[in-house]
Amino acid sequence: MLGLMQNWPLTVDKILDHANRWYSGREVVSRSVEGPIVRTNYADIHNRAKRLSNALLGMGIKTGDRVATLAWNTGRHIEAWYGIMGIGAVCHTLNPRLFPEQLVYIINHAEDRIIFTDLTFLPVLEGIIDQCPTVEHIVVLTDESELKNVTLRCKGKPCLAMESLIDQHHAEVVWGGFDENTAAGLCYTSGTTGNPKGVLYSHRSNYLHTLVGLQTDVLGLSARDVILPVVPMFHANAWGIAFAAPAVGSKLVMPGSKMDGQSIFELLETEGVTFSAAVPTVWQMLLQHLQSTNSKLTTLKRVVIGGSACPEAIIRAFGDDYGVDVTHAWGMTETSPLGTISRPTADVEALGPDEVIPFKLKQGRAPVGIELKLTNDEGRELPHDGTTFGRLKIRGATIASAYFKQEGGNILDEEGFFDTGDVSTIDQYGFMQITDRAKDVIKSGGEWISSIEIENIAAGHPKSALAAVIGIAHPKWDERPLLLVKLREGQTSTKEEYLAYLEGKIAKWWTPDDVVFVDDIPLGATGKIDKKILRQQFESYRLPTA
Ligand code: AMP
Repeated sequence: MLGLMQNWPLTVDKILDHANRWYSGREVVSRSVEGPIVRTNYADIHNRAKRLSNALLGMGIKTGDRVATLAWNTGRHIEAWYGIMGIGAVCHTLNPRLFPEQLVYIINHAEDRIIFTDLTFLPVLEGIIDQCPTVEHIVVLTDESELKNVTLRCKGKPCLAMESLIDQHHAEVVWGGFDENTAAGLCYTSGTTGNPKGVLYSHRSNYLHTLVGLQTDVLGLSARDVILPVVPMFHANAWGIAFAAPAVGSKLVMPGSKMDGQSIFELLETEGVTFSAAVPTVWQMLLQHLQSTNSKLTTLKRVVIGGSACPEAIIRAFGDDYGVDVTHAWGMTETSPLGTISRPTADVEALGPDEVIPFKLKQGRAPVGIELKLTNDEGRELPHDGTTFGRLKIRGATIASAYFKQEGGNILDEEGFFDTGDVSTIDQYGFMQITDRAKDVIKSGGEWISSIEIENIAAGHPKSALAAVIGIAHPKWDERPLLLVKLREGQTSTKEEYLAYLEGKIAKWWTPDDVVFVDDIPLGATGKIDKKILRQQFESYRLPTA
């Protein structure tokens, strides 16, 4: 027997409709790419997004067509998102940190018809647009006056100004009305192996992800919050904040292109931000700014940190020095992205404030809507004892079932779980902790060594700017760890100093066989250490123990 409830398709246009109806005057503040702070609200954003939908329809965009954005976090970028998704077109977020040839690959693979972009990225497009035959128009998120000196052409046509398109169209347009499983967004994974692969979100998955994210123990946003998403809309959907904030009527503060400590600090204080989200490097820059200027944070209450492991120093500095609660989260492009989040349970909180810190350092627990399992290479489930590590697998309505155009074939196991490629433990309280990427884990004498755990400790040495650990072939042990350190400017150090620093902090047999000081450690497009390049660089390196 079927239930007798309304079939109300879960499409994301309804989120902005809701914000327009019930939080119309709630502000959206942006540091514009042109410079000034721009103030708008959900009613204006809704109206302008609808006008943009009409402009897109006028350009022949139909359901399922891909329309790309290459843009910073601003109110205009939100308008583009909803304008595209509202009519059933697919919003393809391009990551400007990709190499030009990767951008060309994904634009062509996605067959993008229009690219919305900021002034900042015109030089990038200038270099690649001739190699992207499917692109018919470039729309710049600005007004006509800024385009006077722009020479970029797309199929011989000048760039269009988003403001002119909005001015030329009215806001009468039907949003939604299609199946909730219709594709809404497309985001390519950073592609550390093979070509980048597209994750194709549906309206339903984005809507459900919004509800998952709004749980108190996940992002827990409210109508009283003022939210600054530093995490970019072009990487893993700004962790869903461009949906979650309008859904509950939070004020939004968009940082534009400026993510340095001073710029973020200014926005936090002038706009009264209560909640923010970013990767650890952004917080490191902010904390350095606060320390060097002896500044205080007067309104910020909570930050979510994810994308890579959150160092203890950040949790302690925020908590002890600035009274800001840190929540560590884990996720990936394939998981929309929220996967796990580290909020203490009643049992963990009862252990006492100092005992909670090790749990905050873990990547956390699965919220309702997400299923996790831990298996060995053969797919057998492993115990949740906090020490056994294995492959982390995930299942749920917000998790990819396949890549766009079926690249890579079947990506699910026989129970429908997606293998995250991360290696982790799960403890008896249900807290998951990433110990490595499956391809980075060092296999020594049949046992696994976590490269991340060693590099996190080494990175905590006061002389370190960055640290990385990779496995190097070893005739007896198969692989042994090599520690690479980029020192802070003006510092000198020795192998012995670093090995002494690690002593007692890791198992003795995890001790790196060598330490090499390097001028630079390569970072990928999403700011993570690129171990593929490091492994290439050290391909012929021989360990002294070999
Ligand atoms: P991406 O799809 O580019 O967002 O990358 C996802 C990957 O980033 C995950 O599979 C993890 O390897 C890594 N990652 C994300 N969040 C964390 C975290 N909190 N701690 C450690 N690694 C993380």
